Amino acid sequence: MNIVMNQQYLRVFNRYMVFGEIYKNRIMSRGDLQKKTGLTPTAISNIVNDLLEKRLIVEGENGKSTGGRRPKLLEVNVDDWSILGIDLDPARLSIGLMDLKGSLIDLRTKDLKGNDIEYLVEEIKTIVDSIKKDVDRKILAAGVGIPGWVCPETNIVTFAPNLGWKGVDIRTRLTEELKLPIYVDNEASVTALGESWAGSAQNIRNFIAVNFRTGVGSGIVIDSRIYKGVTGSSGEIGHIPVDEDGSICSCGNYGCLETIASTPSICRRLYSLLKKGMPSVIKDTFTGKLEDINISMIAEAARSGDALSIEVLNQVGRYIGLALSIAINLLNPDVIVLGADAVEYEDIILSNVRETIRSKALFTPVKRCKVVISSLGRAAPIVGAGILGLQSHLTTMV
Ligand SMILES: [Zn+2]
Repeated sequence: MNIVMNQQYLRVFNRYMVFGEIYKNRIMSRGDLQKKTGLTPTAISNIVNDLLEKRLIVEGENGKSTGGRRPKLLEVNVDDWSILGIDLDPARLSIGLMDLKGSLIDLRTKDLKGNDIEYLVEEIKTIVDSIKKDVDRKILAAGVGIPGWVCPETNIVTFAPNLGWKGVDIRTRLTEELKLPIYVDNEASVTALGESWAGSAQNIRNFIAVNFRTGVGSGIVIDSRIYKGVTGSSGEIGHIPVDEDGSICSCGNYGCLETIASTPSICRRLYSLLKKGMPSVIKDTFTGKLEDINISMIAEAARSGDALSIEVLNQVGRYIGLALSIAINLLNPDVIVLGADAVEYEDIILSNVRETIRSKALFTPVKRCKVVISSLGRAAPIVGAGILGLQSHLTTMV
């Protein structure tokens, strides 16, 4: 029995490896695959036939001849299957349909009015049904990014403070409703997957992808694998305490990065300064309500020279730099990708972030580490969730 299990595991692992090579290299011959993976020609032939039969890859143009017939080159099939990425930010639900390379075909969003599980399942189902109705594509699998910790063995959401969830089995509920293979993981981990397969960290073995929005979290990739930690709670960069005298955080501590650099925290800080009577161009449209303030408004005001908005974002940049210095000293990454809402104000904070890490982190790792803005932008967690669906399904499908 064990031998049968091991053979099955090996077959699935090899298939995943071969597909991953074709994905990374975009186009490959069977001979190149053999050299890259070290598998025998028969094994490569079997796996390639299996992937061709499942329509996950296609044979494209002919490659260069090495003496005999010109080999057929293999590439990921972007025409038949699609994948769904579900991004469950507490403030906004985003669902994207994409091809197997992560290019978005359809993207729908909905502002959320609560975090009740049944309400969210219903909202997800409504959007997925309308996508299915409008877009004529077969769906291979779906991935869900959750702002919380997900147990790697059971797929149960153990703790999601910004959703108020503890021990929620959202995967089973969504599988019942959507009738699709569903896979669930932490939003920052899926973002890192998206950056690695389709974004700013392609072919980078060691990197950190940091998301800034309702919460602040990061996905850590070490030697091309996502580092999850013992309880699946790695990467909680938002809960690094950066200000001893700071305000209370959702985790119960004080002065975490999230209390300064999450999108609601940035809006709250500007709001409280306006309430104190500080001058700003935003005052012209400010009616005294926190809801009047949003992050694009602050970024735009800063860009037009508004001193108050510049000061608020400069502080954000310095504290992000401080937390990243700790991450750089600890993990020595090649690249740090800043994403989600950070794409709104990156031009204003980047110099502060870079200046702070240069002055706080150790010279050698900081010299090597590039801090970049996500090329996927706000779509990174959505694309990453789709890639999670694809990856997980490849390792489980028969
Ligand atoms: Zn915290």
